[in-house]
Amino acid sequence: MYYAGIDLGGTNIAVGIVDENGKMLESASVPTRSGRHFSEIVKDMADVVKQLADKVGISVNDITAAGIGCPGSIDSANGVCEYSNNLRMRHVDLAGEFKKHIDIPVYVENDANAAALGEYEMNAKGSKSFVFITLGTGVGGGVIINGEIFRGFNGVGAELGHTVIKMDGEPCTCGRKGCWEAYASVTALIRQTKEAMEKHKDSLMHEIAEKEGKVSGHTAFLAAKQGDKYGVEVVSKYFEYIAEGITNLVNIFQPEKLVIGGSISKEGDYLLKPVNEFVQKNDYNRYMPKAKIEIAQLFGDAGIIGAAIAARNATK
Ligand SMILES: [Zn+2]
Repeated sequence: MYYAGIDLGGTNIAVGIVDENGKMLESASVPTRSGRHFSEIVKDMADVVKQLADKVGISVNDITAAGIGCPGSIDSANGVCEYSNNLRMRHVDLAGEFKKHIDIPVYVENDANAAALGEYEMNAKGSKSFVFITLGTGVGGGVIINGEIFRGFNGVGAELGHTVIKMDGEPCTCGRKGCWEAYASVTALIRQTKEAMEKHKDSLMHEIAEKEGKVSGHTAFLAAKQGDKYGVEVVSKYFEYIAEGITNLVNIFQPEKLVIGGSISKEGDYLLKPVNEFVQKNDYNRYMPKAKIEIAQLFGDAGIIGAAIAARNATK
């Protein structure tokens, strides 16, 4: 059995042909060029699926179903993107439009939920409670309970980044103040790095930023690894912000596994060790088995594989 997985991002459309076990057979990506009419974007998706089917050596009719992971509020039951800020979409029938090009069942899922499902399928299958978070430009994620994506009554799902960790704290893109995202995203890390640089003119972070041409999510990490004490301060505090939010999620969901993805997860054990120590020390549960916290394994492929798995599960 073959499935097409499509990860529709603000920058790229990443597509893969995946087998029934979630193994990626071929993949490719094309620029989204968001702002175009959605019909052009969907045509590009279908064209890439056709090219990849050729490469795999199958006909598009051999593909059982396609899954599309899309940022924003998704009506999965009807295959409609109700609203996507990134893609400037409002009530777009993605499934219907895709079927005009390739007439197979199409399933649409929120992109973070799709990525969560991908990580779950490949690395945590059978877990009764599973949480996936992405630390990138924003903080997102998904919750899988008994193998099913948790969506709430309205299909919106879990907005893990928009829970307050500091009342009256930093303003968040959602309109509230003090959200976890406003402290634990890469965007927040860059702000924290700039604040520290402003205070400490002698920090190595200045030299690093100058070499890179800008202050980035790496600046404080690079400085910290070279022993700059202000870099260490920024990174340690940032890890605490991440860990506070994760502790909340562990207390609420008691996940068997919580997996960290997104660009910051590339820090690997350097990130995992202090976060794990904080969570193990601070979570409520003392006497029962504890959540395992791990780094994502699929990285960029989680969205593609997860969208394909969502399509597989929906057509099973
Ligand atoms: Zn928020």
